[in-house]
Amino acid sequence: MRRPVVDLSDCVDCEGCASVCPDVFVRTEAGYIDVQDLDAYPEALVDEAIMMCPSHCIFWEDHEDPS
Ligand code: SF4
Repeated sequence: MRRPVVDLSDCVDCEGCASVCPDVFVRTEAGYIDVQDLDAYPEALVDEAIMMCPSHCIFWEDHEDPS
């Protein structure tokens, strides 16, 4: 499956991804964006977050399904 990841070293904490796709991107109390562990990700919304991220620091990563 594919899973979105955030490169926190480039994140400028604009919270745009969290507003576009709050089920996936959550800003923690510690002040960084955490990607939630989900069985499936809403691809269109994640793609929208990727496109609007001003730092271009959200990526899809391929993960092998546990077997
Ligand atoms: S949209 Fe990009 S820069 Fe903004 S909080 Fe999300 S990951 Fe960080």
